[in-house]
This record gives sequence, C-alpha cells and structure tokens, in this order.
Amino acid sequence: MAVLPIYTDGSPVLRKKALPVKQLTDDVIQLIMDMFETMRKASGIGLAANQVGVLQRVISIDVSEIEGLENIKPFALINPEVIDKKDSWTIEEGCLSVPDVRDEVERAKTIKVRFKDTGFHDREIEAGDLLARVMLHEIDHLNGILFIDYLTPEKRKMHAELLQKIHRGEIEVNYPVVTAADIPL
Ligand SMILES: [Zn+2]
Repeated sequence: MAVLPIYTDGSPVLRKKALPVKQLTDDVIQLIMDMFETMRKASGIGLAANQVGVLQRVISIDVSEIEGLENIKPFALINPEVIDKKDSWTIEEGCLSVPDVRDEVERAKTIKVRFKDTGFHDREIEAGDLLARVMLHEIDHLNGILFIDYLTPEKRKMHAELLQKIHRGEIEVNYPVVTAADIPL
C-alpha cells in the first residue's frame, strides 16, 4: 500500500467528472487500498479518487474514529449513486483538498445510496447524519464539486485569502499534496 499525494483546490482533476468503474481489476483494488492508506495518513473520514488524481468513481469512508460510529468498519463504494434523499441539516465541513477552510453546508440528512462493494456486488445502504454527509461530500467530488461551491459569495470572500494561498501551494499539512502550483500550465 502507498500513501498517495492529495490534490488540492485549483488542481483541474478536482473539477472533472470521474468515470464509472466497469470491471474490478487489480488496479482498482490497488487504488482502493492506497486510498485507505492515504485517508488514514491524512486523518480523513472520507476520500474520493479524484483527490488522488484518479478519475474513477471510487470513494473510501472511515468514520470509525467518530463517537457513536465506531461500529461502522471502513468501507469503499464503487460507482455510488444517491437514489433517495430526505430532510436536510446544516453543519460545518472541511476537506483534505481545501486545507484549513471550514464552513457550514446544508445537505440531506438521510440518504439511500446504491453502489458496488469491493467484491463488485450490488449493494444499497441507507445512511443518516454524519455518515450521509460524508458520502454526499465524497460523491460530489466524483462530479467535480467541492463543498466551497455551496458557499455564498460573501462567505467565499471571507475565505479568499486562504484559498489563494492554497492555489499558490502555500500549504502546511502533515500529508503529501499536489497543488495547482505543482501542475505545469
Ligand atoms: Zn473533500
């Protein structure tokens, strides 16, 4: 397993739509294992393949460190698709690709998601609260959407300086990153 560098805001790969996984190949399994390793290293609770520069519809989730969710073992979702949404709530979010920026986002409170598991079997999961939120955040990544896209222009302005720093590659985090400044034009 390998810790992969995480692409940060301003990197084009974060704005692209990831493609469905057609077949469970060794490469996909390797990707999933590396994503778990990367997520652990970065102390993240979720990661999408776009964030490690891969445009495949794969996300990994690990909420087992969160109080009350210890029983949910880390798992990966291939080709996840939200098939139902109910109610909404607003809490603060952050993102490994947008370090140090946190703000409130409104999302559905309860969701139903269809996906393939790591055995490539069709599965459905109903999730609420934080687990639902992590999944929605990560599925957004697969569609090229970041949580900061939901902020009002005023709130974005509040974060402008920090976002510019991220774009310039002036980031201090304890995990490897690829910033927009690293990418040749
Ligand atoms: Zn994120």
